Amino acid sequence: MTESDLRARHQQVLPDWLALYYEQPIELTHGEGRHVWDADGVKYLDFFGGILTTMTAHALPEVTKAVAEQAGRIIHSSTLYLNRQMVELAERIAALSGIPDARVFFTTSGTEANDTALLLATAYRNSNAILAMRNSYHGRSFSAVGITGNRAWSPTSLTPLQTLYVHGGVRTRGPYAALDDDAFIAACVADLEDLLGHGRPPAALIAEPVQGVGGFTSPPDGLYAAFREVLAARGVLWISDEVQTGWGRTGDHFWGWQAHAASGPPDMLTFAKGIGNGMSIGGVVARAEVMNCLDANSISTFGGSPVTMAAGLANLTYLLEHDLQGNARRVGGLLLERLRAACAGVACVREVRGRGLMIGIELCEPGTDRPSPERAAAVLEATRAGGLLIGKGGGHSTSVLRIAPPLSLTVGEAEEGAAIVERALRAV
Ligand code: PMP
Repeated sequence: MTESDLRARHQQVLPDWLALYYEQPIELTHGEGRHVWDADGVKYLDFFGGILTTMTAHALPEVTKAVAEQAGRIIHSSTLYLNRQMVELAERIAALSGIPDARVFFTTSGTEANDTALLLATAYRNSNAILAMRNSYHGRSFSAVGITGNRAWSPTSLTPLQTLYVHGGVRTRGPYAALDDDAFIAACVADLEDLLGHGRPPAALIAEPVQGVGGFTSPPDGLYAAFREVLAARGVLWISDEVQTGWGRTGDHFWGWQAHAASGPPDMLTFAKGIGNGMSIGGVVARAEVMNCLDANSISTFGGSPVTMAAGLANLTYLLEHDLQGNARRVGGLLLERLRAACAGVACVREVRGRGLMIGIELCEPGTDRPSPERAAAVLEATRAGGLLIGKGGGHSTSVLRIAPPLSLTVGEAEEGAAIVERALRAV
């Protein structure tokens, strides 16, 4: 079947809003390490799969073997019966989480993890008000859309939550752009206090330590510690959405919240994406008191499936034994340096930023501050033609190139990818 036939069938039967990259979308058929191949046998270096799913490497033999062995033994319900793999992975994640007296609940996606965190927070606090960050992304369910500040990804939601949006996730534009770190944090705290000054106290603040879909923007270190002080005084919970920032991707820290750690860990963290290296695992870690506030039975048929848990255990073991967090710091640092050099003097580049293997290149109309989604789309096509897959993101316009390779990226691959980005940028 040709690619255009498959595309026509896709358009016929799947929703119009199901995003596809590229003018001629790619059908990926296999992968290995940091590379993937399409149905025509074209090979690409993958600089985006690390965020989507493949945190460690494509077709990692350790994970493939664990999945095949478990699938050959039993694939059964995750709950109702004791599940050894789920207990083991929960023990390991609880110990890594930094949250005291931690309990873990497994889901099948990041959206469902955030939904569960909302269920817990609203029940625990008996409040339907949620503080979320402007420009945030938390998923696409009824309630997750309702706490997603990035309007490009939350077109409609009639959720009964009362969402209050807080400043702090982005400071590249608007009145906060000129402030230094301390002044920025003080302004955001004042904004938060203003929101808290009226009405019923909210249940929780949910925030991504680095905004992912929003274009890889990081608030200054310590912002959430400052928020925490204000929130804790009122009993408001802090939920750290670690769906993109967890497991060492940011290089300096295992979790994104640790960049803000002065006031201790969050009350809850949510995770998903790469922990299964492509298998669908999500989950919530919470203090026992918060996790156990639900007074009814609850199960998830597929969350915690023995097969996905086997993948998670093998993947977690691999990434800790190979110090992939350290690799993210070292190779990510070098990649950031190379990309900054590649972008020097390119008029449409507004900023190159990042932490570890989470790097964003924001594009604008040359000589102005206006975002340029057209150029971002053109660079995406040009990098593909050069044999590299990258992603896009940003606020209300998709003008940030997003780079998030598998955490096992080598120095040689980082250099090769940076050279392709440079050629694509200069061509566009
Ligand atoms: N939270 C964040 C920070 C995300 O980036 C995403 C996915 N892009 C989600 C939640 C939702 O995860 P999922 O797509 O697995 O439902």
